[in-house]
Amino acid sequence: MNDTACRDYRCRFIPGELDDLLGHDRIGHQVRNLLGREGVQTREQLAAIPDARLLEFENFGVGCLARVRSRVPAPASLPASFPEFSISGGPS
Ligand SMILES: [Zn+2]
Repeated sequence: MNDTACRDYRCRFIPGELDDLLGHDRIGHQVRNLLGREGVQTREQLAAIPDARLLEFENFGVGCLARVRSRVPAPASLPASFPEFSISGGPS
């Protein structure tokens, strides 16, 4: 069975580019379209967007996020700007 053919006329089969990266199934195309609507066109752009921001995109759910994260690692975490909380251990 040949499942490399894609019926989505908007798809671009460029290895390493978003369309190919995200996959040519239903959710892959959905993610690609949602990202495109937000102006995300390249792998580099996608790789710079943290999870929380992706989830703010319209109709972008956890299933979409899972697809993205299975293909593109999350951006390196920002320098810690939160004060460290000491966890007081156990009941006193
Ligand atoms: Zn496709």
